[in-house]
This record gives sequence, structure tokens and C-alpha cells, in this order.
Amino acid sequence: MTYACEDCGFLFCRVGSIKECPFCEKPNIRPATEEEIGMLEKLLEQGKPSLKIKEGETL
Ligand SMILES: [Zn+2]
Repeated sequence: MTYACEDCGFLFCRVGSIKECPFCEKPNIRPATEEEIGMLEKLLEQGKPSLKIKEGETL
């Protein structure tokens, strides 16, 4: 399952459910959109397990 943090824009994969962001530790987690999942999959291929989207940056 891929998740995105509404607070800081962190994208990450976790098995099972998660209640807070591993980056900012806030509980504003939502399932990632298909577009975000596609982006993260590309990063995973490059060996990067997560992505921090900078504020104001578009997908
Ligand atoms: Zn966060």
C-alpha cells in the first residue's frame, strides 16, 4: 500500500495500515493517488524507497 502525507507531501510504501507520517509524524495520512504511486514506483526502481514532495511542487 502506498500512502501520502497531507502535511508534508511525503510519499512512502508500507505493508498494512499506518496512522502517522514517518517523516513529520503527523496523522494526516491518505492513500496515494495513481499518479503518485506511478512516481514512487519509478523512484523504487532507482532504489529510493520514499519521496518528499516539496511545497508548491506539482506532480
Ligand atoms: Zn508528513
